Amino acid sequence: MAGTLDLNSYLDREIMCSCGHKHYSAVKKIDIDTGAVKRLPGHIKDFGYEKVFIVADKNTWKAAGADAAAELEKAGISYDKVILDYDEVIPDEHVIGEILAAVVPGSDLILAVGSGTLNDLCKLISFRMGLDYIIYATAPSMDGFVSIGSAVILNHVKTTLDCHGPVAVIGDVDVLSQAPMRLIAAGLGDTLGKYTCLFDWKLSRLINDEYYCEEVVEMVETAISTVMKYSNEVKNRKPEAVKAVTEALVLTGIAMSFVGNSRPASGCEHHFSHFWEMKAFMHGKFPALHGTQVGVGTIIALYLYHMLEKQEIDFAAVKASGFDKDAWIREIKEVYEIAADGIIAVEEKSQKNNVEQRNVRLDVIEKNWDKIRQMIHDGLPAVKDMEDLFAGLEAPVNPTQIDVSLEELYQSVIYAKEVRPRYTVLQLIWDLGLSREYAEKTRDYFSA
Ligand SMILES: [Zn+2]
Ligand SMILES: [Zn+2]
Repeated sequence: MAGTLDLNSYLDREIMCSCGHKHYSAVKKIDIDTGAVKRLPGHIKDFGYEKVFIVADKNTWKAAGADAAAELEKAGISYDKVILDYDEVIPDEHVIGEILAAVVPGSDLILAVGSGTLNDLCKLISFRMGLDYIIYATAPSMDGFVSIGSAVILNHVKTTLDCHGPVAVIGDVDVLSQAPMRLIAAGLGDTLGKYTCLFDWKLSRLINDEYYCEEVVEMVETAISTVMKYSNEVKNRKPEAVKAVTEALVLTGIAMSFVGNSRPASGCEHHFSHFWEMKAFMHGKFPALHGTQVGVGTIIALYLYHMLEKQEIDFAAVKASGFDKDAWIREIKEVYEIAADGIIAVEEKSQKNNVEQRNVRLDVIEKNWDKIRQMIHDGLPAVKDMEDLFAGLEAPVNPTQIDVSLEELYQSVIYAKEVRPRYTVLQLIWDLGLSREYAEKTRDYFSA
């Protein structure tokens, strides 16, 4: 199949960039195409590994692991394995221990067969054991394949631990295209979230003069437009479409390692996801898939942006308004519950709600207000187009479909921005004194 993006051109070398930074990704090989399973042993031999330990769950073993193991056997590569016997693997201490106990001494490579959870587990375990790992992807469900962070649940709290990335990402499009549609739709959601996250970044460059890399943005935008080209074919599991989604997810991971943080991949749509996920865990519920949440968050972000497009602002009145910090702390304690202290600490450090700094931003926003509205008009898709796209995959388009109440939706428009000190449209509407009004309008829109 013709390559849609030349991913390997970005790997394992320093790229001196026009943004003034050197970009580097430690990933050495990406092979996402039909027949990748046949090439897997060759990749493993190229890197010189001799004794592979395969980690799969019962679903991924059936879908891909057994075939991969058969190919290793044919190629004379020795391997052992553990097949986790759960319908849904929870990445907690129990499962971490189960895998650690199973790893055969002398193994020199962990081969993760799966997607988000298996990748997180093998990333952590291989890192702690001083081994390399390769992810053999079974579903294009999220963009964390090459990230260095591993999201696990320790003592019932979701925690991200710094580890390392995989040596290689291998995905056979024949396997990926047969993944459950809810996983593929989630991957599409995580990909299309880049519309709003890149826009948030552009906004912050304009308003805060934040570091920005044209080339990284262009790289991610190329990936999104390739996905959009095939978006109507995702529901038919067309190989080209699934390949485009998977490559876009891997590429955004590389974009993050280039920049050294998640700015190219995570904006307000991710803040919504973090907020809802936090709330779900606090209330003993299992949250919707990350990419599914991001897809819904993207629709909300587009709704907010397009309201701003038509907004007239009385800048003098906004600049004269204050910030009642005591009231804010009371609200944060109510909304964030046990997580409130951490959120308050973020504000202490970042001062994102400091009125003087806000007024400096408001000066820039005022000067550029027509430009910002024009950028929204030219640069962001319509809410309805995004809703139709997800609805066509039978994916959720409304927060209430993913167990987020209208009250939590209202709260997230106002307070989700507090999870990270990162400038997004949520901070912009706060700067403009519009958070509550827009939260009400958003709640009305999604309750209709
Ligand atoms: Zn750059
Ligand atoms: Zn994401």
